[in-house]
Amino acid sequence: MKPYSRVYAAINLDAVTANMKAMRDNLPPSTAMMGVVKTDGYGHGAVPVARTIDPYVEGYAVASIDEGIILRRHGIRKMILILGVTHESRFEELVHYDIRPAMFRYEEVRKLSDTAVKMGKKANIHLAVDTGMNRIGMKPDERSADMVYRMSRLGGVCIEGMFTHFAKADELDKTAYTAQYRAYTDFVDMLSARDVTIPIRHCSNSAGIVESLESNGLDMVRAGISIYGLYPSDEVGRDAVKLMPAMELKSFITYIKTIEPGDQVSYGGTFVADRTMRVATIPVGYGDGYLRSLSGKGSVLVRGQRARILGRVCMDQFMVDVTDIPDASEDDKVTLIGRDGEECISVEELAEISGGFHYEIICGIGKRVPRVYLRDNRIIGKKDYFNDIYEGFGYM
Ligand SMILES: *Cc1c(COP(=O)(O)O)cnc(C)c1O
Repeated sequence: MKPYSRVYAAINLDAVTANMKAMRDNLPPSTAMMGVVKTDGYGHGAVPVARTIDPYVEGYAVASIDEGIILRRHGIRKMILILGVTHESRFEELVHYDIRPAMFRYEEVRKLSDTAVKMGKKANIHLAVDTGMNRIGMKPDERSADMVYRMSRLGGVCIEGMFTHFAKADELDKTAYTAQYRAYTDFVDMLSARDVTIPIRHCSNSAGIVESLESNGLDMVRAGISIYGLYPSDEVGRDAVKLMPAMELKSFITYIKTIEPGDQVSYGGTFVADRTMRVATIPVGYGDGYLRSLSGKGSVLVRGQRARILGRVCMDQFMVDVTDIPDASEDDKVTLIGRDGEECISVEELAEISGGFHYEIICGIGKRVPRVYLRDNRIIGKKDYFNDIYEGFGYM
């Protein structure tokens, strides 16, 4: 199978399904799941991922209204929640597409209510509560509870849900998590005292799900990185929920040559050969999201063996040492992320050696990298981000 000649990301949708099942099995039966598909499904492609996880979720979370609209345009009908702030210039679209905003200020809720009333509809909203992230949300105090009561009286909105987000659920020490969760449940009680009930309460992220935290007992959890088969950190347990990475990054050797002692490789000549070596060129670089900070440190897999990066990663190419892989040939498959035979290069490994963050690596796989979707080892779909049209610059 060679769907592209330069580089591609293979997305294993069977792994996505297996990850959803594994999480489902670790949740109380009455707890629903929301699939977080922001940043285009953490770089995997929001639409194919949403389609794949649809049987397991009650809804989806995205970062912006535009991400939500893309899902709607591809036939996703379930609940969609925007996790960030939505500008009032987009309120009509929120109502039109029935996409839920996260809200926490009275005025924005009032304006949305007016918009919905004018359109003859009701807008569903989820309240964002700030229990410690200091990102967005209302403070969980009596004043906010009074405000929520007033929101609940507005004719054009329905408070469908309320959530908070944990800053440290992925850490070994759960003290901060516990304090945040307590602040949230106390706030739920303050609202109950005002006869405001919240149908969908949700707090847990992937860390909460794999760590079997108490907040999994609310109405819903928000699964993010775990859908894609990565654990949120190396401090979370890996026994309760077995995850399988869904993305592999594959390329091909474009050129092989022999260099002599004293020869330098790539910009700056940071690698100098001390013996005769066989060097392979890979047509991938930081322009594809393959980190330059892997220069001289990372490795790739060729014929099931590790080949280390020589010198700097360039924008579109880099070189590896194949001296000890004598069979290596031009056009051979190269694995930058994923498995080849017994060997495996994980996103976590790349994060570790580059000094980066695993979430950032998958989100940063570039638009020059086509995504290829696999089920039962067969290609069932593709997405080529690069084959795109500019507006305003004419056409041929
Ligand atoms: C991104 C995000 C999530 C998912 O986080 P993961 O660590 O990927 O599970 C959940 N909730 C909110 C509010 C988020 O911003």
